[in-house]
Amino acid sequence: MTELTHFKNKITIAGSGPVGAMLAIILSRENYLVDVFESRPDPRAHNAQQGRSINITLSERAWAALEVIGLDNKVRQYATPLHKRIFHSKDGSLSEQSYGKKNQAIWSISREKLTEILISQAEQETHVNLHFEQRLTYIDFSTACASFSYLKAGRKGHKEVDADYVFAADGAFSKVRRLAQETPRFSYSQRYMEQSYIELTIAANEDGSTKLSPHASHIWPRKDFLLVALPNNNGSFTCTLYLNYQGETSFSSLTTPEAVTGFFLHNFTDVMPLLENPISEFLNKTPNPLFLVSVDPWVINNKVALVGDAAHAMLPFYGHGLNSSFEDCHVIAELIKLHNHDWIKILPAYYLQRKANTNAISKLSNDYFFDISHFESDELLSKKIADKFALKFPELWPSMDEMISFSRDISYEKAREISLEQKIIMTEIMKIKDIQLCWKKDCVYQKLEKMTLIRLLPLLK
Ligand SMILES: Cc1cc2nc3c(=O)[nH]c(=O)nc-3n(C[C@H](O)[C@H](O)[C@H](O)COP(=O)(O)OP(=O)(O)OC[C@H]3O[C@@H](n4cnc5c(N)ncnc54)[C@H](O)[C@@H]3O)c2cc1C
Repeated sequence: MTELTHFKNKITIAGSGPVGAMLAIILSRENYLVDVFESRPDPRAHNAQQGRSINITLSERAWAALEVIGLDNKVRQYATPLHKRIFHSKDGSLSEQSYGKKNQAIWSISREKLTEILISQAEQETHVNLHFEQRLTYIDFSTACASFSYLKAGRKGHKEVDADYVFAADGAFSKVRRLAQETPRFSYSQRYMEQSYIELTIAANEDGSTKLSPHASHIWPRKDFLLVALPNNNGSFTCTLYLNYQGETSFSSLTTPEAVTGFFLHNFTDVMPLLENPISEFLNKTPNPLFLVSVDPWVINNKVALVGDAAHAMLPFYGHGLNSSFEDCHVIAELIKLHNHDWIKILPAYYLQRKANTNAISKLSNDYFFDISHFESDELLSKKIADKFALKFPELWPSMDEMISFSRDISYEKAREISLEQKIIMTEIMKIKDIQLCWKKDCVYQKLEKMTLIRLLPLLK
């Protein structure tokens, strides 16, 4: 906190998660006075996110935003590069899929560590004031005056904070979004997945080496459920088990040590001995729900704007919730410059640009659960054909990873458009008589090339 005399406007941010903290840095450097209110204690002092030790994969979109605030190198020090996915089948056999070209990687980092780095930087900024353990409880959408509750010496207090604008970076369960539902013409939908998730751990070996191949994400696809392990840079892996909340094989049906042991032995034979106390962890942890949110508009009265998960909480299967949220912040930074601090133009442009793109990545993430959990089924042949074609004509058949994780130029919306067209083309290819037998023949690729030139090339230009 510093002497504040020449700031342009006063901005309140609700939530100091990774998005609130990044936005605070951006706005402060544009000379706005920024007050960030966070309902939890300072995560650097308390283990505030206990039980939420999620690992996040960062791709080019996140790096582009981190570069804007000069934190890319710092964050990379705590991140682990992942070059490929390794699929573990039930019989223990492995198959691999590179994320990108040689040397391309996405990066895994603990969300807690990432948030700490961003908060520490925000604290250093000239015009940022951080307020922990202060919860937004109410907001006047016409004046941008927000109310906060806090505890002082054991007694509950309230205060009102005036601002010119409010950014709601208060996450998937956003209070601002809930309050906005009482404003006119605000549409909101929330859909729960059948699956919930718990986190499990694979510790490092005593000498610090990893128990699974490092620099890869590990995936155990089992159709209705899925286990994913991402490495940490201390040699351990954070694993996420996605499983139905209710039903025959579910968190609700597996309630005894015997049943859970049988479930792990049957489905995760190779990884079971590596997991730390999977049975008691499974039985004692409360599964976290998975849901996706869609709201319209994100900007109310040109005073209050939603950002990050508050605006577009999505399913985590493509690992782009935070990547797309950092892209929100990046776009705001660019629009401030483009519109020379004219918020009448900035906020509507932000909403317009981000809504279509986050809709697209949310839909892609939704579909990806099926693709990834059914990895061992027939889907594989079409993937093999696509990979073989892409090897010969890389510019004609960009992979999804290439478009969403390694590109800074292809928007999510464009990537989805291209991928839908690719699916249509591949459906036609899979109808070729005896494709299972003839898939390596030239005629298949000639047909593919022809269709691609007609249908895909116009989109790729
Ligand atoms: C299992 C899982 C795996 C994921 N993996 C990936 C991945 O690999 N890659 C990726 O890009 N994304 C991933 N995500 C998504 C990513 O975690 C989110 O997109 C990201 O955390 C959003 O950041 P945020 O700052 O918007 O929200 P949050 O991280 O939720 O932060 C919101 C903050 O607001 C605070 N807050 C809440 N209410 C109030 C209030 N009333 N007043 C004040 N403060 C408040 C909260 O305490 C919190 O600190 C994953 C998500 C899950 C669940």
